[in-house]
Amino acid sequence: MNNVTENLISETVVESDRSHVWHHLSQHKAYENSDPLMIVKGKGVRVWDAKGNEYLDAVSGAVWTVNVGYGRTEIADAVRDQLVTMNYFAQTAGNVPAAQFAERLISKMPSLSRVYYSNSGSEANEKAFKIVRQIADKKYGGKKRKILFRERDYHGTTITTLSATGQSERRNQYGPFTPGFVEVPHCCEYRAQEGADIGNYGVWAADQIERVILAEGPDTVGALCLEPITAGGGIIEAPHGYWERVQQICKKYDILLHIDEVVCGLGRTGKWFGYQHYGIRPDIVTMAKGVASGYAAISCTVTTEDVFEAFKEDDDPRMGYFRDISTFAGCTAGPAAALVNMQIIEDEKLLDNVTEQGEYLRGRLNQLMDKYEVIGDVRGKGLFAGFELVKDRMTKEPADENLCMAIAAHCMANGVIIGRTNRSFATLNNNICLSPPLIVTRDDIDVIIQALDNALQDLT
Ligand code: PMP
Repeated sequence: MNNVTENLISETVVESDRSHVWHHLSQHKAYENSDPLMIVKGKGVRVWDAKGNEYLDAVSGAVWTVNVGYGRTEIADAVRDQLVTMNYFAQTAGNVPAAQFAERLISKMPSLSRVYYSNSGSEANEKAFKIVRQIADKKYGGKKRKILFRERDYHGTTITTLSATGQSERRNQYGPFTPGFVEVPHCCEYRAQEGADIGNYGVWAADQIERVILAEGPDTVGALCLEPITAGGGIIEAPHGYWERVQQICKKYDILLHIDEVVCGLGRTGKWFGYQHYGIRPDIVTMAKGVASGYAAISCTVTTEDVFEAFKEDDDPRMGYFRDISTFAGCTAGPAAALVNMQIIEDEKLLDNVTEQGEYLRGRLNQLMDKYEVIGDVRGKGLFAGFELVKDRMTKEPADENLCMAIAAHCMANGVIIGRTNRSFATLNNNICLSPPLIVTRDDIDVIIQALDNALQDLT
């Protein structure tokens, strides 16, 4: 760690945080004997804490968000200019950056056509669920209200998006949940289910979705919601054959395909959107984190013209429209930031960088796997990568859950912030996640790998 030993903020601020801020996903008991981590400055792929310690951020703001990196004055300037011209008016009316960004966004996903703005990934997914439910009402006389989601996928933090989340540990304690959400099996080949067809696992895993649809009754199922690559659930890319079969199944049973690009969207996997690797045509796509790289809060629920049209075809004009609004979707800072964010990805050819550095990163992770028995599987696509820790490669018994935490703490102490599945995700088998900003260089990746190498050397 590059220790500067100069406090960048006053002790009083740290004390205010310790006394009054409730941190997310955090056990505050830890702060009784140590200072809470406060990140106070960022530039490029690096951030600094309150004590002046420098870190290479290999997870883009802890949760895969800061795609274009820190300290982008061009985004800050655009947001400032927009705010002094027109900061807010509800999305019941149009505004300039929202219109411009929608146009630019659709140019990257031409089979879709309408952008519905909101503020977070959870909210974007909730909008999608509401759209599906209203279509069920309008087009199918109340049938087709059920929404399928996949084991190990995550779709958000609200009660309804948790109802659509396949990570039981995250749901514990928060029920009862919203009815009408049904789980389908995961598609992690490394953890293939008993009886699975290993030679043809992608197709087999997709066929399990069809089995659920048939058991529920196809006329009750309105949509299938999937992450293009399962993120927090363990960086799982569906094997060959999966997506083609998923598309066929959706078509056969008249089920809307909703792809949650909250993590993969805006370049993380080397294409604008994760689904674009697989030749599928979703009906609804949701996105959030990388849309404005954390410079402003913005999320989008993007639909095809067909989905949008359903809200116009109604004899009763009061029921024909989407009865939904989010106050802060009218903040112009979001689309103003998103416009420049997208421009940066284009100007700096970051999609190419993701593909190139992503291959390098996975090559280096495979070298670590050759060296350390504890790495059972290396996974990912583009700059979204990770590996799974096991006690024994033959039995695939998950490594002790504390090992994941210890590796993350070791890397942090050595100046590299990496991601890990949460402590409560023991059943998700201890994954280390890496998702650096899309501007990461080969030298940066070498620093990340060195930190992991040191940690694995010392801890295993
Ligand atoms: N979908 C996915 C795939 C996510 O990973 C997340 C957040 N990690 C969300 C939705 C929810 O996004 P938010 O936290 O912005 O509500």
